[in-house]
Amino acid sequence: MPKLQILHFNDVYHLAPHKREPVGGAARFATVIKEFRESYGVESSCVFFSGDAFNPSVESSVSKGAHMVPALNAFGIDAACLGNHDFDFGVPTLKRLVAMSNFPWLLSNVVDSETDGPVAGKKFVILEKNGLKLGIVGLVEKDWLETIPNLPPNLKHKDYVSAGKELIAQLRDPNGPHAVDLIIALTHCRLPNDIILANQCKDDIDLILGGHDHFFYIGKGCDVINGWTREAKGNDGWTGKEDVGDDGARLVKSGADFRELSIVELDIDENTNEGRTLKRIKNITVTRQEVTSSIVEDEHLSGLIDSATTDIKEKMSKPMAYTIKPWDCRSSILRTQETAFGNFIADLLFYAYKPCIPHNIDSAILCSGTIRSEKSHLEIYLKYIRLKTQLLLFVLLDVSYGTCCKVPFQWFLNKKVGFRL
Ligand SMILES: [Zn+2]
Repeated sequence: MPKLQILHFNDVYHLAPHKREPVGGAARFATVIKEFRESYGVESSCVFFSGDAFNPSVESSVSKGAHMVPALNAFGIDAACLGNHDFDFGVPTLKRLVAMSNFPWLLSNVVDSETDGPVAGKKFVILEKNGLKLGIVGLVEKDWLETIPNLPPNLKHKDYVSAGKELIAQLRDPNGPHAVDLIIALTHCRLPNDIILANQCKDDIDLILGGHDHFFYIGKGCDVINGWTREAKGNDGWTGKEDVGDDGARLVKSGADFRELSIVELDIDENTNEGRTLKRIKNITVTRQEVTSSIVEDEHLSGLIDSATTDIKEKMSKPMAYTIKPWDCRSSILRTQETAFGNFIADLLFYAYKPCIPHNIDSAILCSGTIRSEKSHLEIYLKYIRLKTQLLLFVLLDVSYGTCCKVPFQWFLNKKVGFRL
């Protein structure tokens, strides 16, 4: 019975290790991958990644994601699916990052409406491992796609279930050019959408390896679970107790941020019928692995990370601007009144987002409670300013002052409701 070994990971943001265990870090992660490949050989094993690498991090605000490429290239990845944050710097930047990568990025169901080709990356890739012909596809949900502000207008999202089925039928066709034995879907979806895909594509997809959620999930279609039980608490508070409608899903989601990964072992059954050998997964064994400080860092990758981030660290260590008067960034001030720093960030939001939004916008409103500092600043460093999409959302329930650019207004917190603005 042939076997296939897979190392799966998803959602990585920080090359450096965390302070708390499992500390992770790309250099330790490289050691784990190296040992995995030494144990099983490149011919009988796969390394798959399920998206989100190029943003967000302090480093990516300088590199626009490019600092992640040397690390990912060193992992010997067989295929990866694009995630929402990989689009954060726009499609042209993403295409550049994809071109710099030494492995295929997949996106099967988001296409250019004119050419029907993928908007970035490839629609699928065929791998031959251990005598098995594998069709690898990349499927993503519509939910996060709708939150990306600067996508080109000719981009079309095809339903991930029906588009997936259509593509998979072509890849599986015994008389077609590919005639694959197994289909593995790399996905970037929330768990409920992965479950829908698993339940509706039981006969189409042999294994789903998902990203986007940062917790561990092993579907009920995986027969053996080593080192982890469904009730164990994940790093982000996932209890594993919620009923997600898992109807025997052959689904694995592998934590986040180089801190966790899954080793998935597939046992394959072969049946010869009318001269054709059908190969199906008989057993899936998933081992959850944490990347703790006991793992030695890979020296080669440590060096690569240093050279990829030296320039970034240098830029961030120098002030990018000086203020004439100190900017008071204490929350007691920021949250109750108009401030120079609040105005500066609201203006930044306005100018940063204006080119990305198709409508003519007049103002940006900042919930000042999102600024976290308890000091006055005379020097402004890039690391202080990280614009995230949610800054655009003015949380009405928050009592924070709404710093607004381009619209003059006054705010009287002490007056009664209806007379405050
Ligand atoms: Zn994501």
